Amino acid sequence: MGIVELASQNIHGLLNAEGFACPCGKIHRTEVRELVIKPGALQEIPRVVRSAGGSRVFLLADPNTYSAAARRVAVLLEAAGVPHSSFIFQEEHVQATDGALAQVLEHFTPESDLILGVGSGTINDIGKLAAKVLGVGYICAATAPSMDGFISSTSSMVMRGIKESVPSVTPHALIADLDVLAQAPKRLLQAGFGDILAKYVSILEWRISHLVTGEYYCPEIAELVRLAVRSSVSQVEQLAKGDREAVKILLESLLLSGLAMSFAGITRPASGVEHYFSHVWEMRHLEFGTPQDFHGLQCGIGTVLAAEIYEIIKGLTPDEERALNYVEGFDLEVWHAFVRCFLGKSGERLVELEEKEQKYSREGHKRRLKRITAHWDQIRSIIAQELPTVDVLRGYLETIGAPVSPREIGLDYRQARRAFLVSKDIRNKYNASMLLWDLGLLDEVVKSLWRGKRERE
Ligand SMILES: [Zn+2]
Ligand SMILES: [Zn+2]
Repeated sequence: MGIVELASQNIHGLLNAEGFACPCGKIHRTEVRELVIKPGALQEIPRVVRSAGGSRVFLLADPNTYSAAARRVAVLLEAAGVPHSSFIFQEEHVQATDGALAQVLEHFTPESDLILGVGSGTINDIGKLAAKVLGVGYICAATAPSMDGFISSTSSMVMRGIKESVPSVTPHALIADLDVLAQAPKRLLQAGFGDILAKYVSILEWRISHLVTGEYYCPEIAELVRLAVRSSVSQVEQLAKGDREAVKILLESLLLSGLAMSFAGITRPASGVEHYFSHVWEMRHLEFGTPQDFHGLQCGIGTVLAAEIYEIIKGLTPDEERALNYVEGFDLEVWHAFVRCFLGKSGERLVELEEKEQKYSREGHKRRLKRITAHWDQIRSIIAQELPTVDVLRGYLETIGAPVSPREIGLDYRQARRAFLVSKDIRNKYNASMLLWDLGLLDEVVKSLWRGKRERE
């Protein structure tokens, strides 16, 4: 049975330890051994700890997740005779930074052999990395369906003031108590939904990159992600009401998306240019204190912005001569100066990255341009196949009560234009801004973007 068929029956089928030999040539497998998703799931924690080989647990939480679940987890461990100690961050809003990691390492009790992180994105990012540094096991108890990184093997961290994706550990198991998740703040649920909508763009860009750059692509994994998106989108009205079954479906979609990344060994299936709006806003927040909001909320807004850009791209016709002239006249020094000025320390890092990757080399451009021209009709039909209209996407976000425009999270369209410009430099990942650069139309299109809207709409 293929992974898509398995997933449509039951997500647990995807945890097979041997993995799945896929027609794409890879064996898709995950290190996650168990997903416990049901009302009252917290009660299973002592059993799951034992099956993970844990004899002494180190519990990690923040004040919110402590009252939402970790306090009860401690009682349950006590009752089951599982020795444990805990560290509860004092701050209401913990950030996943090197400082937070240092606090955990300092308070860790050396006899512990397993970390149990109780929380959503931040606690798990810190916990997974602490487990890696300390060489102990990890179990994740999710308190909100807020993003798709629970079961990934990386942690999204701010190290020395720069946002990075750091290799950490894959949790042995994920526990999601639906009684707890249904009580999570609405914003976190909206964020999880935004992180799901993002996949419309990421799958589309993965396919385009496969055509233009020859990047690895797996149709099975893409279909797995589409399945996750369809399941959650079909529940949008129930999600808006906080319906428990819908919350379960959203969480499973997020986990499927996380599994898709593990299976592919890259973030491509679940993150494209829409995520880069979020990354850039976060980098600017760190450097300049500009506004930011939850990852998934920003990705939801980024999805609408990306869809507006792809509607423009769909109407373009490649002009090789024009593209070659544009690239000939592209001044890398001036561009790098802008990146440094717009992103500060992170910008410096991106410039270094580019110097290694040479993504602006004339030869690379010529190669890509040939493939773009040869596949243009196919690129346009991929956009049409994968992406709902801007109005439909906005409608989903509005239904669930999530922000739709940058303005609603304190940013403006000027910030969005610049974030888009710089998005081609964030990682070596082919996306909408690089495609427009290859076509020689990036500056022109960016200038025209969102002009109908007031700067601070
Ligand atoms: Zn595959
Ligand atoms: Zn995400």
